[in-house]
Amino acid sequence: MARGETIFEKSNDTLHRVAVRAVRDVAPDAMIIEFDRTAGFHAGQTVALTIPDSGIDPRWYSIASAPTEPVIRVLFDIVHDGALTPRLARLHPGDYLLASLPRGSFTDDPTRRSAWIANGTGVAPFISMVCAGISAPKTLIHGSRTVERLFGRKLFEAVPLLEYVACVTRERDDRFFAGRLTEYVEQWDPPLDARYLLCGSAGMIVTVRDILIAKGVGFTDIVAETYF
Ligand SMILES: Cc1cc2nc3c(=O)[nH]c(=O)nc-3n(C[C@H](O)[C@H](O)[C@H](O)COP(=O)(O)OP(=O)(O)OC[C@H]3O[C@@H](n4cnc5c(N)ncnc54)[C@H](O)[C@@H]3O)c2cc1C
Repeated sequence: MARGETIFEKSNDTLHRVAVRAVRDVAPDAMIIEFDRTAGFHAGQTVALTIPDSGIDPRWYSIASAPTEPVIRVLFDIVHDGALTPRLARLHPGDYLLASLPRGSFTDDPTRRSAWIANGTGVAPFISMVCAGISAPKTLIHGSRTVERLFGRKLFEAVPLLEYVACVTRERDDRFFAGRLTEYVEQWDPPLDARYLLCGSAGMIVTVRDILIAKGVGFTDIVAETYF
């Protein structure tokens, strides 16, 4: 085993020591951490992270950057009683992380019509997909408590092939749907030729899946990435 590597025993993944390049706030209790990319990945994939010598089991994070960039960016909520995220939030450029190779099959065909549905930081893989480039119409429905937690909003609003629908529960803003994303999906007419990618909390995913199936979407056209 090369120096600086350790074994992620639960999945037999090797963890690589990578340098942190940036850590910044994006909203109250939400941050982005950026670190050196050591391998290629497909938009939509995840990476497991932990802090060297912390004894904390690695946690999985969706990659929120383009596959062509020299760094990987991850968007995370600070879970105040959590083991890892409060410590991630205190890292600085030049510190080190342990990172797995990118993994996962939550990927999209950029040339095919899709609908992307996410709550909170579950929008991260769709940031990566947009950065990687799309050539077919996509719809993104993103649910958030507040406008400042509409992560990636300006990026999404600038993409002509992307229909961007933001659902905000705790603020009123005429530009956005006032209410939960599940309420939006209830009154939505989903395209039946699309593939559906759902990402975020288990509760949202189960509710949206049931609504889509009741509206005639085939269950084989729905894929999900659950943040548990
Ligand atoms: C495939 C996959 C991809 C993921 N991608 C992301 C991502 O891109 N961004 C991201 O922020 N998280 C993501 N997660 C969740 C992430 O892996 C961790 O679970 C999360 O960051 C909490 O880690 P922690 O060590 O701070 O808290 P833990 O010590 O693991 O948890 C402490 C307590 O907080 C609860 N908890 C965990 N997460 C949350 C939350 N978000 N809100 C409220 N309570 C919570 C736990 O149930 C537990 O009770 C992903 C999970 C999976 C499985």
